[in-house]
Amino acid sequence: MRRWLFGDQLGPQYLERPDQLVLMIESKAVFRRRRYHRAKAHLILSAMRHRAAELGDRCLYLQTETYAEGLAQVDEALDVVQPTSHAADRFVRDRGISVLPGDRSFATTREDFAQYAASRKGLLLEDFYRWQRRRFGVLMEGGEPAGGRWNFDADNREPAPRRATLGVEMPWWPTEDAIDAGVRLDLDRWETEGIAFLGEDGPRWSAATRDEALRALDQFVAHRLAHFGPHEDAMLSADPWMAHSGLSAALNLGLLHPLECVQAAEKSYQAGEADLASVEGYTRQVLGWREYIWSVYWHAPDDYALSNAMQARGEVPAWWWDLDAVGELEANCLSGIMRDVRTRGWVHHIPRLMVLSSYTLQRGWDPAQVTAWFQQAFIDGYPWVMIPNVVGMSQHADGGLMATKPYTSGGAYIDRMSDYCGGCRYDPKKRVGPDACPFTAGYWSFLSENRSRLQGNNRMAQPLAGLKRLADLPEVLAQEKARGDTPP
Ligand code: SF4
Repeated sequence: MRRWLFGDQLGPQYLERPDQLVLMIESKAVFRRRRYHRAKAHLILSAMRHRAAELGDRCLYLQTETYAEGLAQVDEALDVVQPTSHAADRFVRDRGISVLPGDRSFATTREDFAQYAASRKGLLLEDFYRWQRRRFGVLMEGGEPAGGRWNFDADNREPAPRRATLGVEMPWWPTEDAIDAGVRLDLDRWETEGIAFLGEDGPRWSAATRDEALRALDQFVAHRLAHFGPHEDAMLSADPWMAHSGLSAALNLGLLHPLECVQAAEKSYQAGEADLASVEGYTRQVLGWREYIWSVYWHAPDDYALSNAMQARGEVPAWWWDLDAVGELEANCLSGIMRDVRTRGWVHHIPRLMVLSSYTLQRGWDPAQVTAWFQQAFIDGYPWVMIPNVVGMSQHADGGLMATKPYTSGGAYIDRMSDYCGGCRYDPKKRVGPDACPFTAGYWSFLSENRSRLQGNNRMAQPLAGLKRLADLPEVLAQEKARGDTPP
């Protein structure tokens, strides 16, 4: 049996034997069908080619137009470890390729989650997270959570610090090599053939090999983890990394395992190097949220990706897609964050949720299109991560199966949690007039538009009561209708 490795199955856990024969297929059609961030295309191709170089003669590496074309060149029996998307799963099963069970880049298999879900009424993240901590014994002391608390969120919601940067060491960056140079030349050539990309292909910053990923993890744990917790929800315009690990793309390529990440973080706590609130916050993201999202992707009904409970039908406009309108944007938060997406295909979870996604939710853009944008524009975007995060979490399109309320806010939240508003031509306190903040006005316009859909939601009772008291609501609505989808 030759083992077919997909481009997100690049860690050692995908092979059992040191002499195992391997197939890898680089399909150009993947990039022809959808417009991806060029840094993402670069990272995936670089990671695949580096893995093939490590495997040497054992690896048959095919560069073809489609996967089917590649498979037609192989006359050996193939097996594949359970792919990470419904589409890839169907593709291999339809061709009779033997599929090995097991979700090797996750701590939670879909069988684990099915059993877990069968024994519970709801699927609250907090319950799942505690179940994970218990069964893997992470941050547990004598059967109880370390420090006597499961949750240190209250310690981890500090507003933006009053300085330009957090003052933490930058994440470890790899040095590009001849493989990266070859990838860049190929992508240049593909562009001349008509394959279009988004954003910039600057120096590769994310790990593309297991060795690089381990170096990045070590540096994060040794120098940055201790600063992660308090400001994990804050944003600084001049410091997009703050103390975030930046390891999500390496994890999603299969180069790191989530358990080795949280265990390394736990060791740092036990050695007295990182405080419990930071380590718990990081563990919650990796062993809680990431695993929960993965599990929801497989557990949800087949048509979950098409959910549209808020009946949001707006087209995602071209300026949002192209990432090229950054210079025209006057909204300082959007401008800075879109610039960061254009530059490196990554921003941390709060700009994603409370600026980019909040904006798309307020403007009523189709959640399937928003999902596609996140999947294509972010170097760590894959269907399993973006569908639940966008449809369930950020766009409230599943009607509340994952999140008990829509995540959106006015400019006051962004002002408190970032330094963007100080240099903005809009005023986060104003909802009407030439300097009305598009987020503040957009928030009230969103509530008004979706009033009947949110009516029975207890967590929305207070905002909806506030909406009733808004004397200038007609002006806000007229203003936001006129603003429409023009870049703010
Ligand atoms: Fe963003 Fe509004 Fe603040 Fe400007 S004032 S940075 S648009 S939240």
